[in-house]
Amino acid sequence: MLESIILFIVGVFIGHISPRLPILMVTRAKGFNFHFPHHPEPISLSPHLTQRVMHLRVFYWLGIVFALIPLAAGYMSLVWGSASLGFGMWLSSGWSVINKLQTFVGGNPPPWTYDMAIRLQVVMNKSKQDPCCDFPEPEWQLTAVRCASCNITLDEMPRPDLGRKRSDGIIMGSIRILASDGHPIVSEQSND
Ligand SMILES: [Zn+2]
Repeated sequence: MLESIILFIVGVFIGHISPRLPILMVTRAKGFNFHFPHHPEPISLSPHLTQRVMHLRVFYWLGIVFALIPLAAGYMSLVWGSASLGFGMWLSSGWSVINKLQTFVGGNPPPWTYDMAIRLQVVMNKSKQDPCCDFPEPEWQLTAVRCASCNITLDEMPRPDLGRKRSDGIIMGSIRILASDGHPIVSEQSND
């Protein structure tokens, strides 16, 4: 009985982590981040940042392909191996896929969207054409896009995880990303 429970938990763990591997691993290496300051400092708006949002969006959807691995392995385990391991893998990887697909039926948007990249581009264009101050320096802070010179809020868009190496270390950082799925952990308190 205890063995089945442990195998089930191991299965849930594998099924939960696999679809998130691209987001957890791909962009965290040093070479991917020399355009950006260290986490958790604000990131200046630039084409590099817009591109990073688009990459993370791709890796997010790539998670569906990565979910097929525990789905297939879970199926084989159900048929030929341990039923509880297979069931655990099926349950959590299947849930991840459903969770991603619910976006299309009016659920929460993913942490990284095309719309988000557009909004960053709009702020960048606007700071050139219609600057907020003499030295506009739009940057993405934890809770919103603000100007580093005059501190005006340019877009009330909280910052999701941006794939940088986390300041809280690989283990704690990964646990936070697994728990939040990359969504911003803080949200802006309205000032009025
Ligand atoms: Zn300004």
